[in-house]
Amino acid sequence: KANRKFHPEDTVVTVGNAKIGGGNFSVIAGPCSVESEEQICAVARDVKASGAVMLRGGAFKPRTSPYSFQGMGTPGLDLLLEAKRETGLPIVTEIMDPRMADLFEREVDVVQVGARNMQNFELLKEVGKMSKPILLKRGLANTYEEWIMSAEYIMASGNENVILCERGVRTFETYTRNTLDVSAIPAVKQMSHLPVIVDPSHAAGMYWMVEPLALAAVAAGADGLIIEVHNDPAHAKCDGQQSLTPQKFDALMKKVAAMVDLV
Ligand code: PEP
Ligand code: MN
Repeated sequence: KANRKFHPEDTVVTVGNAKIGGGNFSVIAGPCSVESEEQICAVARDVKASGAVMLRGGAFKPRTSPYSFQGMGTPGLDLLLEAKRETGLPIVTEIMDPRMADLFEREVDVVQVGARNMQNFELLKEVGKMSKPILLKRGLANTYEEWIMSAEYIMASGNENVILCERGVRTFETYTRNTLDVSAIPAVKQMSHLPVIVDPSHAAGMYWMVEPLALAAVAAGADGLIIEVHNDPAHAKCDGQQSLTPQKFDALMKKVAAMVDLV
């Protein structure tokens, strides 16, 4: 189902007024984690003003250490809904537990499956039964074939609205958090009709490298971007070092808009 051979035309995923794929370019932005009503609503207003068409923000976070901030949980989802009411931006947030599927089905617009869960096959089958589009991140060390097969799991369960997201992979290089695999964009778009977006934030791990990587992704033909933006990166509870301020995000969006028509 994900293979371009049997489905030559690009899939276009529609979320409210936003479209991704088939020549439609969309930007998703927001903090790594929802931290407070003030934070998420302020960031939502700012990224919307700069041209983002969806708000990202984690409520359930897959942290390496069990002692790190795990996200606000369900109250975080409520705050995302508050930010959506205020701005109209659809919300994108990560699911980690198949038992949360009903809650996410009711409250979330795009359901993110994180890199660490790309091959959590029971989770893939469960989100495959949902009616909401799924943003499927590439695993930390997965091949294009494996990534597309994970999309296939979701589609085989009935949900054909899958957005693929390249977020960098593990290599021998340790300077960057991950190595952004720009080749994935043309390669996977050749192999599959599904839209491919890029997350330069988790690839870089450093805020100052987000802009060049984002522009490289646009030049390589990505269908969209997902970018971490925080109103106070120095005090962020998660991923502050790779988060853009709203001002830096606005400057990036002007450069993106000069290269591609934003939805
Ligand atoms: C995130 O989007 O905040 C995240 C945890 O991303 P990834 O799954 O790509 O590491
Ligand atoms: Mn993050």
